[in-house]
Amino acid sequence: MKSLEELQFHNTYARLPDEFFNRVTPIPLHNAHLISFNPALAELIELAPDQASRPEFLEYLLGTKRHPGMEPLAMCYSGHQFGVYVPRLGDGRAILLGQLKNSKGQSWDLHLKGSGPTLYSRGADGRAVLRSSIREYLCSEAMHSLGIPTTRALCLIGSDEPVYRETVEAGAMVLRMAPSHIRFGHFEYFYYTNQHHHLKTLADYAITTHWPELTGREDRYLALLDDVISRTARLIAQWQGVGFAHGVMNSDNMSLLGLTLDYGPFGFIDTFDAGFICNHSDHHGRYAFDRQPEIGLFNLTCLAQALLPLLAVEPEQAAEQARALLGEYQQRFLDAYHVIARRKLGLREQQPGDELLWHDLLNLLQQQADYTIFLRMLCDFDSTTGAANTPLRDRVLDRAAFDAWAERYRQRLQAEQSNDQERCQRMKQANPKYILRNYLAEQAIRAAADKHDYSEIETLLDLLRAPYAEQPEREKYAAAPPEWAQRIEVSCSS
Ligand code: AMP
Ligand code: MG
Repeated sequence: MKSLEELQFHNTYARLPDEFFNRVTPIPLHNAHLISFNPALAELIELAPDQASRPEFLEYLLGTKRHPGMEPLAMCYSGHQFGVYVPRLGDGRAILLGQLKNSKGQSWDLHLKGSGPTLYSRGADGRAVLRSSIREYLCSEAMHSLGIPTTRALCLIGSDEPVYRETVEAGAMVLRMAPSHIRFGHFEYFYYTNQHHHLKTLADYAITTHWPELTGREDRYLALLDDVISRTARLIAQWQGVGFAHGVMNSDNMSLLGLTLDYGPFGFIDTFDAGFICNHSDHHGRYAFDRQPEIGLFNLTCLAQALLPLLAVEPEQAAEQARALLGEYQQRFLDAYHVIARRKLGLREQQPGDELLWHDLLNLLQQQADYTIFLRMLCDFDSTTGAANTPLRDRVLDRAAFDAWAERYRQRLQAEQSNDQERCQRMKQANPKYILRNYLAEQAIRAAADKHDYSEIETLLDLLRAPYAEQPEREKYAAAPPEWAQRIEVSCSS
């Protein structure tokens, strides 16, 4: 384990041509202080956890005291926002401080969000508010513990700096970590600005760094696209499984590595609603929960379009190849999703009718029952007498529909000689008990913003590290939202 001084930064992104980024100095927040520190992430970069209590910690990791090798920069990208191409976006309020390699050879980007304006801020302040920083900090760790690929965060920093949104809020920063922060939009930028030589440089950089097994292959760009399609399909299947809505699935918020990226107005479904819209600014429901799989394909199509010049010399051939790969997306998504659905139902075998059984369950829950609570209770489903299923049955309004579905489920379980006890254990690994519901995040936000009380952040962080475990002393955190929480609104202004 290293001290702060022993961290050896480098930045391979800074070796790319000038058009890829803009060097920038992070601007500290007034009275910046450490709110929370994540030792699990310190371990990944082999930083001794006691270093977080040193006064130098913030100076070093907020980039005010420059480590040798640290080359803070804002990355340039563009992207499709709400379906419309925006020619220049880029890190408007984030900085890639540098990268750290651990002794396993894994490289981690240290990416500071809320660090002040950059060349790409488009007139905005380059800041992030405490509210959304707490949400990102907690949710990224929660997603990781749910087994969903995501960026994570080393620490959360608060301040007295006023930041102006709908109201005045406190400025904050999140120090994100991921193997890479490259987005689909990075490729779109070089494609639409006709810098196709840079497009190639970027793709080769991504391949060398993250897909070394493809290096030197003649069809490497096609293979890259192929893998990004698979990763994205799997990621979105996992989101659907856990009831997570991202909220702003613009192509600039899509990670090349298939990570959940840019937590903004995200939300977990409480009462199941396939058309759940978590982003208050999404008036047309473009990013509604049940549209995420198709939006995934839209974004992949944007990426494929941008990669066309690399796929083949003949444009028609390139387009043909891209189309063929994109054509695989839906099946890949469905395959991944149905594996998840079977695990959630506790089915070991794959049998005809399983998918229908799952979809009919969702129809049963629609606007009736809490998704997470119901599925967790389903783990204890009694497939023998059925008498023990009354609490589950009481969760839905349409009891007759429940009885019909439960009978089909019972028969299906019998068809594979399912053992209730054993199945229950397995199902509890697939149906989390604890998720970051909006109201839980809101309670932590209110205590932090109103009273500088950060204890709830730590409690949630600890709780959400074990989302599948029974945590009897924290039973209340598994509850559906209280009445007051119906009015929480989350939007893009963060
Ligand atoms: P988002 O949808 O939140 O990922 O943001 C879209 C784009 O706007 C990204 O390029 C962000 O860096 C930029 N952006 C968002 N909020 C701010 C802000 N407060 N200051 C500067 N840039 C911002
Ligand atoms: Mg973004």
